[in-house]
Amino acid sequence: MEPSPSVQVALLRLNILGLPIDAGSRKEAVDAVFGALSGGDRMAIVTINAEMAMAARLDPKLAAIIRGAGLVLPDGSGVVWAARRRGVRVKKIAGVDFIHEIAEQCVEAGRGMFLLGAGPGVADEAGRFLTARHPGLAIVGMADGYFSPEAEPELCARIREARPGALLVALGVPRQEYWIADHQQELDVPVCMGIGGSLDVLSGRVRRAPAWMVAAHLEWLFRLIKEPWRWRRMATALPAFVVAALAAERQERYTEPGR
Ligand code: UDP
Repeated sequence: MEPSPSVQVALLRLNILGLPIDAGSRKEAVDAVFGALSGGDRMAIVTINAEMAMAARLDPKLAAIIRGAGLVLPDGSGVVWAARRRGVRVKKIAGVDFIHEIAEQCVEAGRGMFLLGAGPGVADEAGRFLTARHPGLAIVGMADGYFSPEAEPELCARIREARPGALLVALGVPRQEYWIADHQQELDVPVCMGIGGSLDVLSGRVRRAPAWMVAAHLEWLFRLIKEPWRWRRMATALPAFVVAALAAERQERYTEPGR
């Protein structure tokens, strides 16, 4: 199925390894979310890191989804590094932090939020945390992420009936991106975002890296220590991303006229 059309937001957009990365301010991104929530345009939000960028090189469907997304937020030290090498002072926007911005905009626009994904009970705990942090936020529905293909039509009907302004999908990359692309249009939800393991973090079941590690761009190391099975994926993706980004830069320098 073709990815759902998503309104493209006029932010400063960089091209890194053939993929867009929005390098505008956090405020611009937040305003874009409010615009979609209040205006009814559909917007898919992708948070990209080096692992996802490398996965997209081998996965044309994922690459097309990223290219068609309304917002592509830099959610990793690797992509921030690559953007800064182009002279743009990009700031990392972690998906788990941006959820709070979306929650605030939902309150502002008078729209509800639907949480889909993670293990049984996790969305419920995450939802309670979000409503405590954002007075006035309505969680209009929840479902865990371990549903069968047969249960999907009923799940979609539930989401449609709940009429959320924002749907957060925690099914892991790339399944959550595929799911949003395949369903956003029929669900008619203005703002959809793939959020990986964020519901586990918001529920308090998984700890986030301490602030000093985040500031030192070492969140990946914390994750690696806590979830060592990621070692192989991360150990190959980040260096491969750096090599590919440097090679692409060199290529651009040689093909740029007058240099
Ligand atoms: N998950 C899910 N259904 C599945 C597979 C995974 O709901 O069939 C959830 C899982 O419980 C976790 C999230 O998807 O909450 C994926 O988190 P992870 O940190 O692995 O995300 P990624 O690294 O892909 O961003």
